[in-house]
Amino acid sequence: MQNDPNAAAHPSVIDHERLSSLINSMADGVLAIDEDLKIVLYNGSALNILDVNGSIAGKPIVQVLQPITKDGEHIDVWSLIHSVTTPTATRDYFLEYDDHSRSALYLSIAPVHAGYGKQGVQGYVLLLRDITHEKSLEEERDEFISVISHELRTPVTIAEGSMSNAIFAAEQPKMDRKTLMEALKAAHEQVLFLANLINDLSMLSRADQENLVLDITSINMHSLLERLVDGFRRQASEKGLELELELDPKLELLQSGKLYVEEILQNLLTNAIKYTQKGSVHVKAWPTEKGVSVSVRDSGIGISKVDQEKIFQKFFRSEDYRTRESSGTGLGLYVTMKLIHLLQSDLEVSSELNHGSTFTVHFVNME
Ligand code: ADP
Repeated sequence: MQNDPNAAAHPSVIDHERLSSLINSMADGVLAIDEDLKIVLYNGSALNILDVNGSIAGKPIVQVLQPITKDGEHIDVWSLIHSVTTPTATRDYFLEYDDHSRSALYLSIAPVHAGYGKQGVQGYVLLLRDITHEKSLEEERDEFISVISHELRTPVTIAEGSMSNAIFAAEQPKMDRKTLMEALKAAHEQVLFLANLINDLSMLSRADQENLVLDITSINMHSLLERLVDGFRRQASEKGLELELELDPKLELLQSGKLYVEEILQNLLTNAIKYTQKGSVHVKAWPTEKGVSVSVRDSGIGISKVDQEKIFQKFFRSEDYRTRESSGTGLGLYVTMKLIHLLQSDLEVSSELNHGSTFTVHFVNME
């Protein structure tokens, strides 16, 4: 201040200007209200968050700020502010706009004592912040933890039970090899499921960080598909499903990321078999102008039109009881779509509820 000649000339004007430019440059909404809860000062961010145009000076705060709870109940702002004696903050409220969209609100209320507390409360300063994005990340994280712990619990419980059966069988003086083998096999199956789950999770985390490394090679789709489909034969026959592979004789090499092409097709085949109770799964591949297309058609439970819009979302699983009968994380198609984009390819879905689904990938040759 001492080095500032203007400050010496008009200290209060300069201080006021500095203060308003400081408040106006804040990303958080600021509202100062008097003892009657009328607005005396506000900044542009407050107008944005509250979605109001024009001056709100002099207006009662209850007219401008109308937060609601998660369930849509209106908060009595008058009582809320009057109950505040020390600075308080909440992250539990929402603002609802004219178009019925909502944003999650961080709201802090601090009483301002102009006379150092002697004259009682003179007003309040409110800070508002739109925390919709943070909240959705928190919700996503919570959902992630709940889905994963649920998915882990079942296989771990089964594996644990089977292992203790195996130990019990092995301890018997006349060891029953058949019981022992069955218990070990059941445990092994669950451990394999867990390994797959971990695979999905690590793929998901890499896909989300967008740091997937792409190694383009010439892929012999003929042998890749034969090997892949063969890997599902046992699973298909256990469910009594026909598994057919139809390869166009003119099928050529595909220039793409082999690991990811395989991962995509593996996910589609896993789903086709998982969500088909009877009938068949038909895999077909043919050359196109730009590369190779592969379709995976099943005669399974199908996907409703509404669900078709959502199946590529993280964690989405249909509410259909037939989906819920089988385990899954709702991550497969999310990861699949990420990989499809990485390979600059396209994915088409056509499905009818109760009549099966067809997922077609149009792989393109990459440079
Ligand atoms: P998950 O199979 O682990 O649930 P996905 O991301 O692979 O997760 O699939 C998301 C959802 O899409 C599934 O839960 C299911 O409701 C639906 N879905 C995917 N593939 C098929 C299919 N071939 N037939 C019917 N429903 C499917």
